[in-house]
Amino acid sequence: MRSHYCGGINESHIDQDVTLCGWVHRRRDHGGVIFLDLRDRDGISQVVFDPDSHESFELAEKVRGEFVIQVTGRVRRRPAGTENANMATGQVEVLGKALNILNAAATPPFQLDEHIDVGEDVRLKYRFIDLRRPEMLNRLRFRSRVTSYIRNFLDRNEFMDVETPILTRATPEGARDYLVPSRTQEGSFFALPQSPQLFKQLLMVSGVDRYYQIAKCFRDEDLRADRQPEFTQIDIEASFVDEAFLMDKTESMIRELFQDVLKVALPEFPRMPYSEAMKRYGSDKPDLRIPLELIDVADLVEAVDFKVFAGPAKDPKGRVAALRVPGGNQLTRKQIDDYTKYVGIYGARGLAYIKVNELAKGAEGLQSPIVKFLGDEVALAVLERVGAEDGDLVFFGADKASVVNEALGALRIRLGHDLNMLTTEWAPLWVVDFPMFEEVGDGSLHAIHHPFTAPSCTPEELVASPETALSRAYDMVLNGTELGGGSIRIHDESMQQTVFRVLGIDEAEARAKFGFLLDALKYGCPPHGGLAFGLDRLIMLMTGATSIRDVIAFPKTQSATCLMTQAPGTVDEKQLRELHIKLRRQPSERAGGNITAEEDLMKVDEIGKS
Ligand code: ASP
Repeated sequence: MRSHYCGGINESHIDQDVTLCGWVHRRRDHGGVIFLDLRDRDGISQVVFDPDSHESFELAEKVRGEFVIQVTGRVRRRPAGTENANMATGQVEVLGKALNILNAAATPPFQLDEHIDVGEDVRLKYRFIDLRRPEMLNRLRFRSRVTSYIRNFLDRNEFMDVETPILTRATPEGARDYLVPSRTQEGSFFALPQSPQLFKQLLMVSGVDRYYQIAKCFRDEDLRADRQPEFTQIDIEASFVDEAFLMDKTESMIRELFQDVLKVALPEFPRMPYSEAMKRYGSDKPDLRIPLELIDVADLVEAVDFKVFAGPAKDPKGRVAALRVPGGNQLTRKQIDDYTKYVGIYGARGLAYIKVNELAKGAEGLQSPIVKFLGDEVALAVLERVGAEDGDLVFFGADKASVVNEALGALRIRLGHDLNMLTTEWAPLWVVDFPMFEEVGDGSLHAIHHPFTAPSCTPEELVASPETALSRAYDMVLNGTELGGGSIRIHDESMQQTVFRVLGIDEAEARAKFGFLLDALKYGCPPHGGLAFGLDRLIMLMTGATSIRDVIAFPKTQSATCLMTQAPGTVDEKQLRELHIKLRRQPSERAGGNITAEEDLMKVDEIGKS
C-alpha cells in the first residue's frame, strides 16, 4: 500500500513519486492550499494539496485529525523560508496527487500533542491512541531494540531460549500468587509463575546447560508505587558455573547493551558485601551517585540520659547513625520540617539534627535541639566522628536498625537529589554476601532470596546459626535500583531439605510442594546458578521514564486493573459453575473500590522506595 514511511522522506527523494499511509496529524487550510501533516511510526511528512488536483483537493477538505489515509504524490523541495529544521523531513514536502481515505476517525478524546494536560487515567483508557504519540512509540521501539540485543548476546554466548509454563504451581518468590481455577480438577488451582525459577533449575538437571527466557512473571503484591502485577524478566540459568562466571557474563551483557544502544560506557562494577551496603548506605541497593554516608555513633551516645538515643544505642537490634550533609546548615526550618515528615513515611518518629556554624566555638558554635540532651562533650565527639566542618548539618536516626536504615537511606537519596549532589550519571555495583534468612514478625525465618539459594556454609553450620549464615546470592544495582539478582543454587538434596527445615517447612510439606524438585536433585543435578533482570525497570532507567507504566504497552494501575479492557471483570454464573466456584458475596453486596484514581496511578515520588 505504500512506498515509504512518512518519516523516511528526505532530499534524496526529490522529484520521485511516493505513496504514504498514515494518520492525519494536523490539517491546515491556507487560503486555497491544504496542508496535511501525515504521521506514521517513523515520523511526519507534510503533504500539500492545491485545487489543481480537483478530486483529491476536495477529499483533503474532508479529512479530519486521526483519519487514516493513503496519499500518492511527488516529493519536492519546500519553498525557501518554509523549511523546518526541527523535522527530519523538514526540507521537503509531498505535492499530493491522489488521496484515498482508508478510514475516518471520530474526534479523539485528547490531542496527541496536548497529552500533558490529560489525566493518565484517560491515557490508559485510550491507550491505543496514547501509544500513537512519538514519545510512547519510541519507547516501545527502544524496548524492542534492547530485547533484541539481549537475545543476540545470549544466543552468541550459547544460551538456549526455552519457554516454561504459565499455568503452573506456586513458586515461592515471596509474593502472593495469581490463581487460575481448574475446570477439569474440581477445587484445584493453577498458580501463574512468580518466576520460572524451578523450571529453569529443572532444565539444568535436563542438561540444557545454558538457558534464557524473556519471561512474563506474575506477583499479586500490595499497592506500592511503581510496581506492576505482571512484569517481564530476562531470566538466565547456567550449569557448571560459579558466581564469578555469572556476574562477569551478565555484567558484560549490560555493559555492551549500554554501549550499543545508549553509547554509554558504564564504569567498573564494584562488589560490595550486603553488610557494608547497609552500614554505609542503609540500603541493599545503594545509589552510589550520592556521596553521603551513614556513620554509626551508638557507642558515643549509649551512656547519655537522652533515651531517644541511648535506648536504641543499647538495643542489639537498634541503630544510632549520623548523616553529615556538607553545606547543609543552609537548610531552612521549613526544609528540615519537610525532611522530618519524609522520614516519617519510613517509620522514623523524628529527625534530630545539629547545624555546625562554627566549630572553633565548641558547643556555642552549634545550633540544635538535641545538644542540650546529649551534653557538649558527646555532641562534639559525634561531630568529630563524622568529620563535620563549619557550614555542615548532621542528621540523626535512632531506632530499630531497620527503621534507621530505611529512613536515613531514603533521606540520603532525597538530599542527594534536592541538593544536586550526584557525582556521576551512572553508578553500577554488585551487592554480594547476603544473609540467607531474615527474621519476620513472629520470629520465624524467611529466605531473603528464595529457598533454592545455596548458603556459603555447610549444612551443619547452617543449622547451628541460621541467622548469621550468608548466601551465594548477588544483586546488580544501578543508580539505586535493583536491576537484577540471582544466586548459585542448591544442587544437593540433603542441603535443600536442611534449608526447608530451617524455614519451618517439614518433610511432608516439602514433599507435597516441591517433591518434583527434590526428586530432580536426586537424579544427577549439576552445580548451577543464574539470575534474572527486571526488563521494565531496565528500560525505565535507560529511557529516563519516570513511571514504569510508560515503558509497558498495556500496563495496569496500582490496584492491578486495566482501565482499557476493564479487566478483571465479572463472569457469568455458567462459567463459575463450570469452574466449581460459588461467590461468597453477590456484586450488589460488595463494597466499591476504596482508592482514588490518583493513588492508583502513583509515580516514583518516593525516590528510593521501590
Ligand atoms: N527467580 C529469581 C527472581 O525472580 C531470580 C533468580 O534467582 O534467578 O528474583
